[in-house]
Amino acid sequence: TYIVTDNCIACKYTDCVEVCPVDCFYEGENMLVIHPDECIDCGVCEPECPAEAIKPDTESGLDEWLALNTKFAAIW
Ligand code: SF4
Repeated sequence: TYIVTDNCIACKYTDCVEVCPVDCFYEGENMLVIHPDECIDCGVCEPECPAEAIKPDTESGLDEWLALNTKFAAIW
């Protein structure tokens, strides 16, 4: 899955939402999140993010962000 991280906080861009083929972006508290079970790992959103906030979960050190994405995606 891909994960939205801190650069998204208070970001006003929604380029990622527009390109996601499975509509798996959701509103978090002050940022967008990706639903980890719905993301098909296509990678299309990553280069579209002007804030470079979207990262693959294969990157290290993102456990807390994965948990936050999971938490806020699940309430919808
Ligand atoms: Fe959507 Fe693809 Fe980005 Fe996952 S990697 S959030 S499926 S655009």
